[in-house]
Amino acid sequence: MRLRNITGSREVIAQSPYVVKEELLPQCPGTWRDIFGNDGPIHIEIGMGKGKFIYTMAKEHPHINYVGIEKYSSVLLRAIQKMREEELPNLKFIRMDAEEIDKVFGRGEVDKIYLNFSDPWPKDRHAKRRLPSRQFLARYHTILKKDGRLEFKTDNRELFEFAVEELAPAGWKAEVITRDLHSDEALMRDNVTTEYEEKFSAMGNPIYKYIIYR
Ligand code: SAM
Repeated sequence: MRLRNITGSREVIAQSPYVVKEELLPQCPGTWRDIFGNDGPIHIEIGMGKGKFIYTMAKEHPHINYVGIEKYSSVLLRAIQKMREEELPNLKFIRMDAEEIDKVFGRGEVDKIYLNFSDPWPKDRHAKRRLPSRQFLARYHTILKKDGRLEFKTDNRELFEFAVEELAPAGWKAEVITRDLHSDEALMRDNVTTEYEEKFSAMGNPIYKYIIYR
């Protein structure tokens, strides 16, 4: 997702109390519970877009601490606007490229990771940029606690099949795999939709999902 460059978005982000300041990120590993001021679990969404999913999750689960990660300032700005309407103390944002994710969270510090409708990077030579690639799974392995789970949703069949094939070589196992999430009554019971999920399921696209662990 790339919105047009919004003038001043970097400045707004730099001053926002909801965004962890870029210059403080190197000090963050191992301190996330101090940042939130409680011992609650830490759940993160990588590539959160405008933040509909993570904002809803944070509102529904006030005892879980959420961190939304987004590469583009112009997109993150939309999530900040939502927080201005109703602030949630258990939600923080980071503007960064997730390639550096293991420099921002400590070993085993994260309880759950969400990837929703990640960019497909269709060219083979860009495979390592895909968020469910083995290169990213190795980074998630470092920051996710031992019995932690990673949940991934997409409407892109090629990306999903790629993601499933990456599991064994990266040392991960699937707990749940569905190629039609919205027809699965049990999984839909606590499904929170994302912006892209609403758009693509309205077009009739099936939604793919896995939940994985190591
Ligand atoms: N998760 C949202 C949803 O489901 O509606 C947004 C999906 S959008 C297709 C993917 C988002 O991931 C974009 O906002 C993009 O900027 C962000 N993104 C892609 N690669 C990223 C990376 N390496 N680090 C951080 N964010 C990334």
